[in-house]
Amino acid sequence: MEIINRRKRMMSVARRLRREENRAIGFVPTMGALHDGHLSLIHEARGRCDVVVVSVFVNPTQFGPTEDFNSYPRDLTRDASLLAEYNVDYVFAPTVEEIYPEGFSTYISVEGLTDKLEGASRPGHFRGVTTIVGILLNVVRPDFAFFGQKDAQQAIVVKRMVRDLAFPTEIVVAPTVREETGLAMSSRNTYLTGDERRAAGVLNRALSQANAAFAEGEQNAGRLIEIVRSMLEKEPLVRVDYVSLNDAENLEALEWLNDRPALLSLAAFVGKTRLIDNMVLGRNGKANPTS
Ligand code: AMP
Repeated sequence: MEIINRRKRMMSVARRLRREENRAIGFVPTMGALHDGHLSLIHEARGRCDVVVVSVFVNPTQFGPTEDFNSYPRDLTRDASLLAEYNVDYVFAPTVEEIYPEGFSTYISVEGLTDKLEGASRPGHFRGVTTIVGILLNVVRPDFAFFGQKDAQQAIVVKRMVRDLAFPTEIVVAPTVREETGLAMSSRNTYLTGDERRAAGVLNRALSQANAAFAEGEQNAGRLIEIVRSMLEKEPLVRVDYVSLNDAENLEALEWLNDRPALLSLAAFVGKTRLIDNMVLGRNGKANPTS
């Protein structure tokens, strides 16, 4: 496994793999502090591609001014040893200056899809995400790039960017990996105290409860949202940011569920830590408890 810090080196390695060795490149962008959710994306990439490239970069442009950019967990030594165990071929771990050199002034904005849900709560977040993903896709030029359903809106926004701007990469979305309590794995879970971690289990239980109501025939979005909200509000350590039901492809807000998959998503503070989770209702015509 080679760790690469320079984007020129990453570009030339990727070019050689593509042109001279004709190998299919799978790419997994991460912000490090790796957990089993990241590792499942790497596993998926290994299964589909000849070469796996993982980036580890805490991207400053996707954090708001009051968010946790400075305190975000960073441990490249631990991450690199996990990645070596997982037979990753290349780790791209650039510095902030390497990605955003002096005078950097070009950004990618996906309109419409980014002004709701996470975009409404975190202004500018998706502009940062699409800009870094655009840069990384241009540096690595992978055949496939792997994203987690955990960040459902991010996956939808990235897919739209790739389609609109004709990036030659196929986006693959893999299911959310959860702890035994149902809590979606996240690097930010390391911020939680023991009590908060236990309390955070309610996020997934609340989504599952709405999912069960949907499976029994409830199609009114307001009532499904209320099931989630009222469960969350009973947990004193949890403060709801939003609960929403949207079309799972175009993110239009729904009043009634129809036969198209619907994204039930939420953001909530558990103590001071903001967590997100979601569930897709109606995939294959029935509720889907695992994603
Ligand atoms: P992050 O390091 O949080 O930016 O995440 C990097 C990638 O891993 C993103 O595509 C995330 O959606 C994905 N990811 C994060 N947590 C999970 C999880 N629990 N299950 C599946 N994928 C995840």
